[in-house]
Amino acid sequence: MKRDYAVIGLGRFGGSICRELSREGMEVLAIDLDEDKVNEFRDIAAHAVIADSTDEHVLKELGIRNIDHVIVAIGDNIQASMLTTLMLKELGIKKITVKAQNDYHEKILNKIGADHVVHPERDMGKRIAHNIISNNILDYIELSDDHSVVEVKAGNKMSGKSLVDLDIRAEYGCNVVAIKRQKDIIVSPMATETIKEDDVLIVIGADKDISRFEKNLVVED
Ligand code: ATP
Repeated sequence: MKRDYAVIGLGRFGGSICRELSREGMEVLAIDLDEDKVNEFRDIAAHAVIADSTDEHVLKELGIRNIDHVIVAIGDNIQASMLTTLMLKELGIKKITVKAQNDYHEKILNKIGADHVVHPERDMGKRIAHNIISNNILDYIELSDDHSVVEVKAGNKMSGKSLVDLDIRAEYGCNVVAIKRQKDIIVSPMATETIKEDDVLIVIGADKDISRFEKNLVVED
């Protein structure tokens, strides 16, 4: 039978991925060493099995090679996470997403050949930090080591001014790629678009430029 995804490790992170994928109608094979965890997912995932993912024979028996995308959400046991990733890679899994516990773990996962390494605690910490700096910063998404996208409430500093008045691109080197205005989304807004206080701007740019933009136009005096 063709399954869409496998999730290995059903802790808070892996469990949440498994629930959401299943809720979206995907066929998920849920795997954990722990019997209680697996029982919890019997009615949620299409298949839930007790297995040790560091055992290559077990992985083969589960038919993991027929699954295109495997998510490794083993956090605490870094050795098990790395070994599992390595074996999945050797078995030829097309896409492997792995949760990293720390920067060192992340580095090794990249070397082993994980396709996508996620670091939820660190990334969420960054997002919340930006929100703490200003209530007007609604979200922050890291695109690379030095580029990001921020979602900001226009607020009183930008209200009533057009993009050309604010000269965001020339002054700050950032681009406003979209404006959310109530239910509408204005994609690639014209330079003459006048900003309203409750607008939400989606801004893309280098971190250092975004940081100046936040300081000067987003954070209220
Ligand atoms: P989270 O931070 O996502 O809440 P957690 O702290 O609940 O995670 P972890 O110790 O990070 O739990 O591990 C996640 C799950 O991975 C656990 O339920 C654990 O039983 C499972 N797990 C650990 N090693 C293996 C393994 N070799 N094979 C299968 N599952 C494993």
